[in-house]
Amino acid sequence: MDQNSRIFVAGGRGMVGSAICRALAAKGFDNVLAPTRDELDLGNQAAVAEWFAQNRPEYVFLAAAKVGGIHANDTYPAEFIHDNLVIETNVIHSAWQNDTKKLCFLGSSCIYPKHAQQPMNEDQLLTGPLEPTNELYAIAKIAGIKLCQAYRRQYGFDAISLMPTNLYGPGDNFHPENSHVIPGLIRRFHEAKQEGREKVVIWGTGTPKREFLHVDDLADACVYLTQNYSDEQFVNIGVGEDTSILELAKLIAKVVGYEGKIETDPSKPDGTPRKLMDVSRAHELGWRAATGLEEGLKETYEWFLENQKAAR
Ligand code: GDP
Repeated sequence: MDQNSRIFVAGGRGMVGSAICRALAAKGFDNVLAPTRDELDLGNQAAVAEWFAQNRPEYVFLAAAKVGGIHANDTYPAEFIHDNLVIETNVIHSAWQNDTKKLCFLGSSCIYPKHAQQPMNEDQLLTGPLEPTNELYAIAKIAGIKLCQAYRRQYGFDAISLMPTNLYGPGDNFHPENSHVIPGLIRRFHEAKQEGREKVVIWGTGTPKREFLHVDDLADACVYLTQNYSDEQFVNIGVGEDTSILELAKLIAKVVGYEGKIETDPSKPDGTPRKLMDVSRAHELGWRAATGLEEGLKETYEWFLENQKAAR
């Protein structure tokens, strides 16, 4: 990939895609295509085929996906499997047909079995049943990995897959119900502070543990590994450390400046008990996360404050 390479960031207006666009711009890549959903509907096979034939991108980052937190996954299972499968098949197939030199597909840590050994290394894929609350999303992401592997094996198409852990950062969705835990809690603690509420309720028991990666660190991994890695084996992208949801809630309260009580609501789902990534393969390949959680949360809260009205 050189500075003039034609690069397509699918999902370039979303949280991950816009972070990849920022990382590419910072590294001097200035021939980057990031059409909006109105300009290119990735769910429309004919439109995707035509767009690829016209634009012939040399490099593709597949960061487009239907994503959401535990509640959204549980509520819209058909959309989560359908939309993701369609985006993956359309983009990967058209990229191969139009001689894209390399494609970087992004999956998720929820591809691993619910009771995977911790930390989870890449060999644990398909060794046990998935977590039911995000099973359909996970199946679609596993299919994406397999598509990349199959196109590499049969056609020699250079597609790599990266599996990020739970992400957060600027550009996230701060919807009160459908978001992931970090943006959901930033919003809830912020509103509680503004309204002077005495307590904030968090979903579940507070005991599940999650690993959180700043989206700019993921973007850095995508650019670095697209330049330096070519193999059918996918790679975990994470920080290698996790925190309980209650600890996270306390940290968010601190960052937001909320001083009231925090209560749990065990009637809401916990999801998988733990999903800590084994990131030794990424480290061996020369990549490592750089942003600390508190520092990343502060920056995300600032972004939220500045973009609150525009936030989805
Ligand atoms: P998951 O990693 O797929 O389970 O996705 P989430 O980010 O949605 O949830 C992570 C954990 O945070 C789960 O145990 C949730 O029950 C818990 N949680 C606590 N409060 C909230 C909240 O306000 N929103 C979300 N999405 N999760 C919450």
